[in-house]
Amino acid sequence: MKTVRVAVVGAGVVGVSTAVCIAEALPLCSVTLIADRFSPDTTSDGAAGILFAAEFPDVPIATQRRWFRSSFRHLLAIAQSEEAPEAGVTLSSGWQIFKELPETPKPFWWDLVIGFRAMTSGELRRFPGHACGQFFTTLKCECRSYLPWLQRRFRGAGGRVERRRVGSLQELGGDFDLLVNCSGLGSRALLGDMQVEPVRGQVLQVEAPWLQHFIRDGDGKTYIYPGVRSVTIGGTRQAGDWRLGEDQTDTEGIVERCRRLEPSLSRAKVLGCWVGLRPGRRNPRVEKELLQLGGRRVPVVHNYGHGGWGVTLAWGTAVDAVELVRQSLQETPPRSKL
Ligand SMILES: Cc1cc2nc3c(=O)[nH]c(=O)nc-3n(C[C@H](O)[C@H](O)[C@H](O)COP(=O)(O)OP(=O)(O)OC[C@H]3O[C@@H](n4cnc5c(N)ncnc54)[C@H](O)[C@@H]3O)c2cc1C
Repeated sequence: MKTVRVAVVGAGVVGVSTAVCIAEALPLCSVTLIADRFSPDTTSDGAAGILFAAEFPDVPIATQRRWFRSSFRHLLAIAQSEEAPEAGVTLSSGWQIFKELPETPKPFWWDLVIGFRAMTSGELRRFPGHACGQFFTTLKCECRSYLPWLQRRFRGAGGRVERRRVGSLQELGGDFDLLVNCSGLGSRALLGDMQVEPVRGQVLQVEAPWLQHFIRDGDGKTYIYPGVRSVTIGGTRQAGDWRLGEDQTDTEGIVERCRRLEPSLSRAKVLGCWVGLRPGRRNPRVEKELLQLGGRRVPVVHNYGHGGWGVTLAWGTAVDAVELVRQSLQETPPRSKL
């Protein structure tokens, strides 16, 4: 019998991953996924979804590697299964190129992706103005397919879904024994965490089925990511910018920069533009606390603030969040919380 009532707030890639992990790993929990926006309307839905990450400054590298490894293994298994097209997860190979030698010659995840190697001078010749580069195979997880697929898996594990806006965690304190906060940028209003801020990203979807390899400039601002149905080209990283509409100057800049890397894009038809706000934070917050909510002490597990790497790290931080849920339930069993 399910005896512990758990609410997960947030149905982006972090929330749905966390809800699935709890529902599958802790059969005593009845899990309700609560959000005001579900796929295809979350930030996660528009992300290119390439598995890649920059380093967070204050999280031990061993932890960041564990998050990356866990996500990579989980998604690789899907990419290699018959579920791959339905889940929108595929292998993706390509180049990351640098105008100047990067501070760290290899990213912390270099040996967790497949076939990471330095580019040859022959390969570099097609990218004038670039001093070095790396070639590797990673994964691409398209959340417009992945999130509905993951939500079906969640319901299969007995999970329930509720669409509503949560004004404060107090609202949920009476109905649930434990809360998991995966509200991304929404944590700013929900918790008053002013460390979370929007990092605006604008991308274009183009039709260019002849492109098979990704190209990413090491500064992270220019990229070309071929996907299942279209190619995502980008982008922008505008901290503190809340605008969700298309910026025509950004569009022109994206087209111009991407064509410089891949001239054949001048033949590509633009299918659409998308803008999303990354949940920027110095470090993601993956931790637990005990809150006094409406006269009860309720354990709260946080999992938010993944910035530009939420698709990459969602499964890894979800696995850690499950462990925090388990610890919280041992420290504060539901019946002793009166
Ligand atoms: C242009 C762009 C490209 C990107 N490309 C990549 C990429 O290639 N690889 C990668 O790893 N990452 C990428 N990202 C980053 C990635 O999109 C984010 O890190 C990720 O989507 C964060 O997921 P999330 O679940 O935390 O947030 P979200 O997807 O924003 O979900 C938040 C959820 O919380 C809910 N919520 C919030 N507040 C409340 C409330 N008060 N009440 C109820 N519900 C609430 C929302 O409705 C939503 O369901 C990109 C982002 C952008 C903008």
